[in-house]
Amino acid sequence: MHELPSQSMNAAPDDSGMSTGRVVLRARKAQPFVGRHPWVFRSAIDRIEGEPRDGDVVDLVADRGRFLARGVLNRASLLQVRLYTWEESQPLDTAFWRRRLERALVLRRQLGLLSPTTGARLVYSEADGLSGLVVDWFAGHVVVQLNSRAMAVRWPVILSLLVELLQPLSVTYRIDKTIAKEEGIEPQHAPAYGQTPAEPIVIEEHGLRYYVDLLSGQKTGFYLDQRENRLAAARYMHDRRVLDLFCYTGGFALSAAHHGSAREVLAIDSSKKAVAAAQANAALNGLSNVRFEAHDAFEVLGSLQAQGERFDAIVLDPPKFTRTRKGVVAALQAYHRLNRHAVELLAPGGVLVTCSCSGGVLREDFLEMLSGVAQKTARDVQILEQRGAAPDHPVGATCRETDYLKCFICRVN
Ligand code: SAH
Repeated sequence: MHELPSQSMNAAPDDSGMSTGRVVLRARKAQPFVGRHPWVFRSAIDRIEGEPRDGDVVDLVADRGRFLARGVLNRASLLQVRLYTWEESQPLDTAFWRRRLERALVLRRQLGLLSPTTGARLVYSEADGLSGLVVDWFAGHVVVQLNSRAMAVRWPVILSLLVELLQPLSVTYRIDKTIAKEEGIEPQHAPAYGQTPAEPIVIEEHGLRYYVDLLSGQKTGFYLDQRENRLAAARYMHDRRVLDLFCYTGGFALSAAHHGSAREVLAIDSSKKAVAAAQANAALNGLSNVRFEAHDAFEVLGSLQAQGERFDAIVLDPPKFTRTRKGVVAALQAYHRLNRHAVELLAPGGVLVTCSCSGGVLREDFLEMLSGVAQKTARDVQILEQRGAAPDHPVGATCRETDYLKCFICRVN
């Protein structure tokens, strides 16, 4: 039952958690790590001393040998060392991983999210001091994304800790293809403990019920990060005609109808499967004024505009447009186009809920893009709320990349 994620490629590390080598930085490269940033890129490294294998614990030292932090090595990745502790006396052993997991779980318990009906992100990677580990909870079932070799080689340890600390009904884990390639490990998607239900299960969020497909949903099955934004957006939807673009399984649309008492909602996603699930969710909640259709959102914007349609509120929650800082310019152009078309479809006094989950696009960039849209459309855009992800997706103060989700609620005059 406790399968190893892979064979020789992911050789298990020794479990003392002590360093088997030293990664020596080039001169003047120590500053980010003194600042507790957890990612050491290849370009910062001068040499590796000792004979650590990829996946082993290493110490990060400055060019003159001063200890900076302890992490896990992966030569196969651009991100060669992921750092986990800045305390020299602290081994990265099972007790360490247990404390980190416990610390993460305390927060979610305090938030009231660890219940038999809720969905929650239990562990959010760097923001919980566990770079490359994402753990989601769906009404007692656990779905894990192993996003680093460091975590993939420790999967047996992590799995047994999760089972012990959570007593879940099931655990499923995945290593997505892109990540596997970047980290030089094998992609995976498999049940690891208990009975992972083949049929979608139901979670509750702010009184609404949603089917979650643990085996073939997107990401880990549901976009938990938008939980509070769905409710916040609904406050502005009373009696309005709403367009929800990139609706996935209907989170914003159903929330607008139920919590916001929107007059009617048209919701669009390019995935037929997502649309079918969204329709099932509408039925599950007895909401009949929400219509879901499978189309390309960009095309829909064009054709609605050509038909002279108007909406009182539009939600834009597109997928990531870039995974890198390099792709930011093109991504911002795509955001601009999307938001411009949406603004043009809005009646005066309409509400625009516009999101970006591209980590590389900073809040400042996104604001700048909106400012460009206001200029281009000659409409006054008032930003009412600048929001982020729900608190079970914290932002690590020393790893700003964890501040990936922007959700701005605007009035467009
Ligand atoms: N708002 C959703 C999450 C959206 S995730 C929620 O609250 O749960 C982004 C969605 O965009 C995915 O469901 C994906 O299928 C969809 N998508 C990607 N490209 C698209 C396109 N060109 N047109 C419409 N939908 C698209």
